[in-house]
Amino acid sequence: MIENTPDALEVSIVVPIYNEEENLGELLRRVHEAMEPTGRSWELICIDDCSSDTSATLLEQFATTRPWLHPLYLIRNYGQSAAMQAGFDAAAGAVVVTLDGDLQNDPADIPGLLDMLDQRPEIDIISGWRKNRQDRYINRKLPSMIANGLISRMTGVHLHDYGCSLKVYRSESIRDVKIYGELHRFIPALAAQFGAKVIEVPVSHHARMHGQSKYGIDRTLRVVLDLLWVKFLLRFLHRPMHAFGGAGITLLLPGLLSLGVLVVEKVFLGENIGGRPLLLLGVMLTLMGVQLVAMGLLGEILIRIYHEPAGRAQYLLRAAPRRRGKANPTSK
Ligand code: UDP
Ligand code: MG
Repeated sequence: MIENTPDALEVSIVVPIYNEEENLGELLRRVHEAMEPTGRSWELICIDDCSSDTSATLLEQFATTRPWLHPLYLIRNYGQSAAMQAGFDAAAGAVVVTLDGDLQNDPADIPGLLDMLDQRPEIDIISGWRKNRQDRYINRKLPSMIANGLISRMTGVHLHDYGCSLKVYRSESIRDVKIYGELHRFIPALAAQFGAKVIEVPVSHHARMHGQSKYGIDRTLRVVLDLLWVKFLLRFLHRPMHAFGGAGITLLLPGLLSLGVLVVEKVFLGENIGGRPLLLLGVMLTLMGVQLVAMGLLGEILIRIYHEPAGRAQYLLRAAPRRRGKANPTSK
């Protein structure tokens, strides 16, 4: 059902939160300060990814006095992507904005990006580009540069900065994109396969205000593995019959041709074909070809099942946050 009533929500801001107790108060203040003057209707969805500090309790308390704040509480630490997916599923806005909870992204950039999306109806996704990225070179910027190059080449969606969390989406462009693991950085590439148009715009970036990054260098390996998966998704997931079936027919044709030649020799020329290498080749190619075509058919069946997500839970939500320690929002 498409709702287009004048009071439909315009903007949902989605922020994954894992142990950000020192940043939360300032985050809410700056998001509110940025959004109120825009005159747009908006909500802020903060997804607590089962923090082990007081973040969840703080969110619950903050929400009592801020009607625009909607906290969600994941039942265990699922990671940034699944937390974002929970936010996407809950988001009611026509436009969805994502950013990090540690204020490395600047909420003040959001209104400009929203205006840009209004002015460019042909664009579905604006991806932030941390041109002046405030992270260490050797363990963050350099691996990112390599990853961005690889992702761009392999997905065909060329961005300088896939890893920037500050992104603005028309909600329909990400409706069919499902993310988990480290897939959040691939959203533009995944959405592009459904036809989304993506542009990249420089945004500000700051050093982490409080707390620590939740990631180490091992993330780079996970990103590379996820990239292989994404490549597989993009290439094969839509039409496995085209991929496997194409390879199968390429083998099947020379296989059948070889067997045909042998049959002609046997029937019309009366030759003994028993020990001919061509026989082995023909049989092998034909069998492999048939198997590949069968795999393509199986793949098509799997896809049908894949697209019926009934019962596929990506995450579980708590009704209320698990309480940890004392938290007093007014002192933050
Ligand atoms: N985050 C999360 N779950 C996790 C790890 C991180 O929700 O398991 C959130 C975190 O609170 C932050 C965002 O994801 O809002 C990005 O994390 P971080 O700042 O540590 O990543 P970095 O900026 O170092 O890439
Ligand atoms: Mg950060």
